[in-house]
Amino acid sequence: MLICQPAFTQLKDERFEVYYDKVIITPGCRSNTFGIPGVAENAITVKTVADANMVRSRLNDILEMASLPGSSEARQRQLLHVIVVGGGPTGIEVAAELTDLFDHDIGVLFPHLKGKASVSVHDVAPQILAPFDRKLSEYACSALKSNKVNVKLNSHILKVTADTMETTEDGAIGYGMLIWATGNKSIALIDTLKLRKTQRGLVRLLTDDHLNVFAPDGTVIPNVFAMGDAADIEGGTLPTTAEVAIQKADYLITLLNSSREKAPPFQYKQRSLVTYTANPHGRRVRFRFHGKKPKPEPASDEEQREYEDKRAVIGM
Ligand SMILES: Cc1cc2nc3c(=O)[nH]c(=O)nc-3n(C[C@H](O)[C@H](O)[C@H](O)COP(=O)(O)OP(=O)(O)OC[C@H]3O[C@@H](n4cnc5c(N)ncnc54)[C@H](O)[C@@H]3O)c2cc1C
Repeated sequence: MLICQPAFTQLKDERFEVYYDKVIITPGCRSNTFGIPGVAENAITVKTVADANMVRSRLNDILEMASLPGSSEARQRQLLHVIVVGGGPTGIEVAAELTDLFDHDIGVLFPHLKGKASVSVHDVAPQILAPFDRKLSEYACSALKSNKVNVKLNSHILKVTADTMETTEDGAIGYGMLIWATGNKSIALIDTLKLRKTQRGLVRLLTDDHLNVFAPDGTVIPNVFAMGDAADIEGGTLPTTAEVAIQKADYLITLLNSSREKAPPFQYKQRSLVTYTANPHGRRVRFRFHGKKPKPEPASDEEQREYEDKRAVIGM
């Protein structure tokens, strides 16, 4: 049986019970702020749709604030400075999308702010995109820099206020929007469950290779499964990606619909990793196939117009 609490604040004291034959625990993770003072209060994480809406709303605010009569150029530049903390795939894609937006759409919609917006990426590590091959990571870093993204490696963040971020290396840096994309932390539910968990790094539920969880004494619990970001298979560390979650979900669907006594274990198939690093021409890139090799090419004028129309519809 599960004891549940409604997620609505006004119903937070209510409880209800749900009986199950089989349960799959898959609550994901939350963003890790590493306890750095001011981050939780001032930075925007990029995890949920609500976070994405917050980014959009803050972006509109800083553009409007920078457009107010009498705004000095220094104030405009500070307001339109977006800092992204975290040089993993999420942080880099956010930086790339913002760069495209500033280089292209914003210049059209806010011509008086053209050239005043900037994006910085800070990471404590000596390289960005750690899951990728070193050469690709270096290529991505130089691609971002050529798009005028200020990439700060080995950057140690000390604290954050409403409009500055302080690092050991550069002191206080002004910003208008701070995006926090530094990785995952376990959610409270995972911390409280009395099940076996990983011992190092991100706390995740441990499962066997059929995705069943373990009781604290190591016995397998046959009707309880765990997957997604909140779980990992004993003896192997799979990344917290949708790719892993989807493959495990497909596996469990087959397992639960099968009448076989002994099912084969789950096996992960690694697919290509892709990260968008922005387009120097402010245009989408399409891929054309020449023989078997995809070749990137700028989109045609018609494709570009279609893309701009879509952006106009969603309000960006
Ligand atoms: C910005 C961003 C970009 C990404 N891009 C990629 C990508 O390109 N490719 C890729 O493979 N992966 C990507 N990922 C990772 C991918 O999103 C996650 O690995 C995937 O969503 C994990 O799925 P999940 O079901 O474990 O968790 P989630 O998708 O986080 O879903 C968990 C759900 O459980 C709910 N929940 C939490 N606690 C409780 C509770 N106590 N009771 C009930 N419900 C609860 C949460 O509200 C949430 O809806 C990205 C992640 C982010 C943040």
